[in-house]
Amino acid sequence: MPKKKMRQLLEELESDTVDELDDDLLAVYRALRKTGVEILLSESERVVRSIDASEPPKFVSAILLSDVPSIIAKPKDPDQVRRCVQLCRRHGVPLVVRGAASSAFGAVLPPDGGLVLDIGELAGILSIDRERLLVNVLSGTRWADLSLELKKSGLALKSSPSSLFSTIGGWFSTGGIGINSFSFGEISRHVRQINVVFPNGKAASLSPKDPRFKLFMGTEGQLGVVTELILSVRLAPKYTRALLLQTSTDAHAFRLIVSVLRSGMPLAHMLYFDENRCKEINRLTPIPGKPLHEAPAVLLQIEGDSLEALEPRLPADVSWSAAPEFMANLLWNERYFPMRGRRHGPGMLGAELIVPLSSMPRYLARIRKLGRMFGVNVTSDAHILSDGEALVLSFFNTDQRRQIMYSIHAALSMLITRVGIEFKGRPYAIGVWNQPFSSFVISRERMDELRRRKQELDPDDLFNPGKFLSTSSKLSTTFGIFLKERIPLFALGSLLAAAEFIGRLSRSILSVGRREEPSPLDLSLLACARCGACVSVCPAYIVTGRELVTGRGKLLIARRIMNGEMPSEAEAREIFLCMKCRACEEVCQTRLPLLSAYEELEEILEAEFGRPKELIEGFVAEVEASPEYERLMYDGVISPDAGIKEGESDAV
Ligand SMILES: Cc1cc2nc3c(=O)[nH]c(=O)nc-3n(C[C@H](O)[C@H](O)[C@H](O)COP(=O)(O)OP(=O)(O)OC[C@H]3O[C@@H](n4cnc5c(N)ncnc54)[C@H](O)[C@@H]3O)c2cc1C
Ligand code: SF4
Ligand code: SF4
Repeated sequence: MPKKKMRQLLEELESDTVDELDDDLLAVYRALRKTGVEILLSESERVVRSIDASEPPKFVSAILLSDVPSIIAKPKDPDQVRRCVQLCRRHGVPLVVRGAASSAFGAVLPPDGGLVLDIGELAGILSIDRERLLVNVLSGTRWADLSLELKKSGLALKSSPSSLFSTIGGWFSTGGIGINSFSFGEISRHVRQINVVFPNGKAASLSPKDPRFKLFMGTEGQLGVVTELILSVRLAPKYTRALLLQTSTDAHAFRLIVSVLRSGMPLAHMLYFDENRCKEINRLTPIPGKPLHEAPAVLLQIEGDSLEALEPRLPADVSWSAAPEFMANLLWNERYFPMRGRRHGPGMLGAELIVPLSSMPRYLARIRKLGRMFGVNVTSDAHILSDGEALVLSFFNTDQRRQIMYSIHAALSMLITRVGIEFKGRPYAIGVWNQPFSSFVISRERMDELRRRKQELDPDDLFNPGKFLSTSSKLSTTFGIFLKERIPLFALGSLLAAAEFIGRLSRSILSVGRREEPSPLDLSLLACARCGACVSVCPAYIVTGRELVTGRGKLLIARRIMNGEMPSEAEAREIFLCMKCRACEEVCQTRLPLLSAYEELEEILEAEFGRPKELIEGFVAEVEASPEYERLMYDGVISPDAGIKEGESDAV
């Protein structure tokens, strides 16, 4: 008899959870199983899918976000997506679409007792048309995978998020601004077609000319599922060069930026780093000393077809000094790791706003001052989007173990957003957390139109309920009412006035009771940014389809164990399914000591349940024989030397 495949085996191990489903969910479950849609039911898988990259204070989570879905559906093709949506509609089951869950504003948080439509495996590049420079992808395809494939044909993405591990559909459904947005604009400008499933279960192909196309731009999965996209790509540039110019003040840095913009330089992208961010980069860079001058910095990424084109005429009307070329390259590579500083928190909070360039120096000075009042260093960097605006990412370290201080710091995040609005800025995304500011993100006419279409297409409010188009907003509880539109603006205005006092309080709380050096597991479960970068490169995930086996999944379960919630024996077994290949450590946003953390976690579980030797042996054999593992090795994601060694397999 052929050996059972890992997915089938794990599915059987968790099948007794079916009894806990109510009649409607059971009907959806049975019908989906019949049509071959993969379903996950284990509690750990559901808990792992009840979070995104945000980490609100505990009291807020308890009131607003304690929801855990009942079923995870993992469609592999658009037809299966349609089937899932139709069945949810027929049985009144609420659902949320989930990509890589790397967004941090609560947009992907699931409805209680509902279904998570996990499109992480609705992935694949369907075609690359080198002549017409078009590529057709399934929406769960990760940016990193597409970029690698394009490189092989001499092509390149026009733009991408810093989170290269996120899905193409996810970025389209949120803001779509990131690397190279300076030269290519938002992602919607280079999408030529989307295939979608509406909340009524009907499918359609929409070009940008179709008025329904806009219903899917930045609406965070509330008006349907994007299943496929045709993107326009470009020939890879022949030559590129990074230049790093530093100035003495922010005012000079932004005058320099304006001057560069006027010069007509062949810029692909331009980034700004404030002084605090430069200090942080020095602290995190494995080069002794302080290789980066701790002053405002402007990074220019230039592209051209000849070396001469890369010799720009730099502005002479503002004083600046050029940093060494290796530093410029280092910062350009840093673009994929905006959260590296988190491990010194071990928590991190912040705000993302689009701010007019003309307000930038005053905005930055104000939020840094606000941070100092609260005893934290606010570090900022910004993507320059045009000669008018920049997308500013501001972060500060905090410690979520001290919940009073953490709650005050969460309020500081909102205060930073409030300050940005005073300077004519607007939050970048809405999700749940920025609902009080939604009128600054989406104009009243567009919001009215979206709400009207939501009513028409999804009258039972099943699609991504609790979000900004929903009739039952997550913010409709007692606490939520406090956060509703006008009240928070007033409340935050008053809070801003009282910031000095609150800041003093926060500083005194911050200064007491420093903890000792944490173990690798303690550090990792606290400092994990929940970004999901480790998921897409994990061979164990690729073979099992379970998030529990990935870095993010294991650390979430470790947290629950620390809070006294042991997983079931069946779930505990899955945690041992790991190739020890280190691919997760290589891509980790926070550079966590993940392998040592896993060892600690396995010791805890082994003491409780023993080690599932047979399961591990079958798993290792299946992974090593899988074409995906070979591909990961071929692409250099996994080193041929990594992984469980012969000598170690006895221990297995
Ligand atoms: C380290 C880091 C760097 C980041 N850099 C950037 C950046 O440069 N620019 C930027 O914009 N963001 C950035 N983000 C935020 C986030 O990564 C992006 O918003 C991301 O592209 C979202 O994709 P996702 O697959 O993670 O979507 P998810 O977080 O899973 O989902 C986001 C929203 O889209 C909806 N959705 C997802 N897929 C679909 C679909 N197929 N159809 C319909 N709705 C869908 C979900 O319901 C949810 O509302 C960053 C995050 C991290 C952790
Ligand atoms: S070591 Fe490899 S198999 Fe294990 S969690 Fe990390 S990426 Fe996955
Ligand atoms: S382990 Fe690292 S890569 Fe994985 S979610 Fe946490 S911070 Fe991100």
